[in-house]
Amino acid sequence: MRTRAIALEDRGLLIANFYGSTQEGDLTAPPNCDGFGRVRHFRRATNPNWPPDPLPIEPACRALGLEARDSIRAQVFQIAACNWRCWYCFVDYRLLSADQRYAAFLTPKELIDLYLKESDRPLVIDLSGGHPDLVPEWVPWMMQGLRARGLDRETYLWSDDNLSTGFFWKHLNSEDMDLICDYSHYGRVCCFKGFDGLSFSFNTRAAPNRFDRQFELMERLLRLGLDLYCYATFTTPIANKTGEPMARFVDRLQQLDPNLPLRTVPLEIGIYGPVKDRLHSVPSVALDNQYRAVEAWLRELETRYSGQELNKPITEVPLRHQRHPKAEKSEPRGQNHVLGTL
Ligand code: SF4
Repeated sequence: MRTRAIALEDRGLLIANFYGSTQEGDLTAPPNCDGFGRVRHFRRATNPNWPPDPLPIEPACRALGLEARDSIRAQVFQIAACNWRCWYCFVDYRLLSADQRYAAFLTPKELIDLYLKESDRPLVIDLSGGHPDLVPEWVPWMMQGLRARGLDRETYLWSDDNLSTGFFWKHLNSEDMDLICDYSHYGRVCCFKGFDGLSFSFNTRAAPNRFDRQFELMERLLRLGLDLYCYATFTTPIANKTGEPMARFVDRLQQLDPNLPLRTVPLEIGIYGPVKDRLHSVPSVALDNQYRAVEAWLRELETRYSGQELNKPITEVPLRHQRHPKAEKSEPRGQNHVLGTL
């Protein structure tokens, strides 16, 4: 999948094109950047029975020196490859298959050119997918491109990681890694696909032992000192007995870092266009079960942290190895920023 998603000599990355996709039907605005981009509105508010989601709103606002807010726009690009097939993925599977009929090779320079051609540019650039770590070069190449245009402090770079590959260490050189570690306007969100081996394999169709691999990779990323956050999805086929596995899940997060659960956001699974055709093979209780699981998650956090700790902004939760606990704040900006308003 990696070899089909990257052209190393030309710095080409296989980027999904949304035109004609089922995902396009879920977009609130037409695709931009000639079909290779979309603008996503990240919102803090969720359903009333679900914890709010501050990602990437708070990390981006802190880095860019923006006032606190409840939503933020992001320019999203998707690598057209993923090694997993989560049943709830809101991306068409054909946009995950490294299929050049639905994607094209673009360099980071070309992506930034497309971004700069847009009239109302978001300040957040989200490298999504698919699974961006299949092509870990994407992050440092984008950083180099943004820096070359003088945009590295004007934008905030955000990338996803499904914690499956470890290509970060296999394919990046020390120069790339140093750039990523030193780039102040960057955050990475790592997604745990379940809270135990059963829910993990149910969600991803991958082997249950790959659940353990997620923790190993997360530990290695934490040691780098990046500004890291986590998502966790809680859909599961079995409703009862969520309490004990959830307690073990929180134990394991805390073994990686005592505060990691406070940087972990439960992600509510909803049904988008591409998911509808897959629902026939999913037990209908799986979606309902995530609400029982999130109650168990919240109970665990309440027993382990004080109210003050639980109410801390997610960006202020310290991690043992973090390099930029208060990363080089920019001066607060008004609404008339050079790249447009959010
Ligand atoms: S890991 Fe992410 S991109 Fe890949 S199938 Fe799962 S939800 Fe979709």
